[in-house]
Amino acid sequence: MAGTVLVTGGTGYIAGEVIDQLLGRGWCVRTTVRSKATSEARLRARWPGAGDQLFVFEADLMNDAGWDLANEGCTHVAHVASPFPVGVPKDENELIVPAREGTLRALRFAHAAGVQHFVQTSSSAAIAYGHPASKTLFDESDWTDANAPGIQPYIKSKTVAERAAREWVAQNALDMAFCSINPVAVLGPVANDDLSASIEFVRRFLTGEIPAIPRIGFTVVDVRDVASLHVLALEAPAATIRGERFACAADFMWMEDMARVLRDHLGADARKVPSRRMPTPVLKLMALFSRDIRQIAGEVGKRKVVSGQHAKDKLGWTTLPVEQTVLETARSLIAQGVVKL
Ligand code: NAP
Repeated sequence: MAGTVLVTGGTGYIAGEVIDQLLGRGWCVRTTVRSKATSEARLRARWPGAGDQLFVFEADLMNDAGWDLANEGCTHVAHVASPFPVGVPKDENELIVPAREGTLRALRFAHAAGVQHFVQTSSSAAIAYGHPASKTLFDESDWTDANAPGIQPYIKSKTVAERAAREWVAQNALDMAFCSINPVAVLGPVANDDLSASIEFVRRFLTGEIPAIPRIGFTVVDVRDVASLHVLALEAPAATIRGERFACAADFMWMEDMARVLRDHLGADARKVPSRRMPTPVLKLMALFSRDIRQIAGEVGKRKVVSGQHAKDKLGWTTLPVEQTVLETARSLIAQGVVKL
């Protein structure tokens, strides 16, 4: 099956992989970028053979300009764009407003254009936070409590955006099949030096910028599997995905195990990858002085496992081994010249 699909935020790590797989399957792909002047040539260079199978439009999450043209003739939308910075902004609304307003804008224009099938890239950030510390297993039935103490702006932004999307669809667009895909930490090969925030710690492992490893871990998923789940959801019958949430997760890994995989397989390229543990009191002390470290310090020692079983059962989704994902992330950072050793 192939039709015309809009993928928002074509410059992004996940959106790039989604576009890549959709083009490979014969879809006509439209994508939005904030600035054609800065981004179109780069996208064309990534898919030199795409020709008029790929159209690039200018549209920002924060205003209406361009969204009608981008949606024209589309039957399907994958709304992937949302702010995902490395650091934590002083004002949480820098993330919450574009995430929420951008999602509602994407929905509104898609619905007006007659789009029947809308997939939102949400996050496990909308699933696995603000719960009692004793809870360690998560799936689609869980919702983050965005008002719990210590909830970080990015986590709030994804929770608020997904809730707003579901409410908007319930009130305005019951004729449109809507689902969310909720990825955990996304790793896997990068296509260029424009890195997603989720890749940053692997880059810093390789460059030696992280001297010791905190007792932090997360459930990981490969960007190629995140994209394939988007494709499965786009290509599934409307009744199969309507209203669904698909947690998009492979397996949990501690950061020290990720570092070990790199040291075991990369030889001299892993010479700066740390092997020392960072004592938790040191991390907590650093968190007092850094908003960015505070963002991760709350997760120390927690083994939060998100299950991707529902997507496997319902859509026949499969996932790569996480060790392969971690290793291929590092190899691509070196191959792309992002990390110079
Ligand atoms: P990314 O590479 O940083 O991509 C983010 C995309 O959003 C970029 O294309 C960016 O455009 C676009 N964007 C941000 N603010 C915008 C605005 N105001 N107007 C228009 N476009 C805007 O991050 P990613 O990892 O691919 O993330 C993509 C989506 O997946 C996000 O919704 C994120 O929340 C979600 N997600 C990511 C992970 C992960 O671990 N990577 C996990 C779960 C969920 P510019 O290039 O112009 O900045």
